[in-house]
Amino acid sequence: VSVCVLEANEPGWGASGRNGGQVNPTLKYDPDQLVQMYGAERAEPLINTVSNSADLVFNLIERHGIDCAPTRKGWMQVSYSEKGVAGLHARAEQWARRGV
Ligand SMILES: Cc1cc2nc3c(=O)[nH]c(=O)nc-3n(C[C@H](O)[C@H](O)[C@H](O)COP(=O)(O)OP(=O)(O)OC[C@H]3O[C@@H](n4cnc5c(N)ncnc54)[C@H](O)[C@@H]3O)c2cc1C
Repeated sequence: VSVCVLEANEPGWGASGRNGGQVNPTLKYDPDQLVQMYGAERAEPLINTVSNSADLVFNLIERHGIDCAPTRKGWMQVSYSEKGVAGLHARAEQWARRGV
């Protein structure tokens, strides 16, 4: 393909140059919510893409020898309320059901 990059400043100038560098393979919405919103046919490929997104990032870093101190040690979600804990269990169950 032929690509043209339009950039007012320098590549990575925007949010990409300011983020915390966390690789969290998730979306704002949980998998079951996405299925409810868009139907399984459209939601499942999206969920699958997201669940493999960290692999893509770390494979690109390795393949291109990108010097960015990558570490892969999982990620935490915490809650200070019982209600929040129930939500986290539901989230974990939904991802586990999809083999994540
Ligand atoms: C403080 C902060 C922390 C974050 N932490 C994380 C994190 O840890 N993990 C994570 O996954 N996400 C994080 N995010 C979100 C993530 O950084 C962004 O979602 C992502 O970088 C967006 O990428 P983008 O290429 O869409 O936009 P950007 O990286 O913002 O790129 C947009 C580009 O468009 C250019 N531009 C704008 N207007 C014009 C114009 N008129 N003509 C030409 N060029 C123009 C800008 O200069 C900019 O370079 C964070 C975001 C912020 C702000």
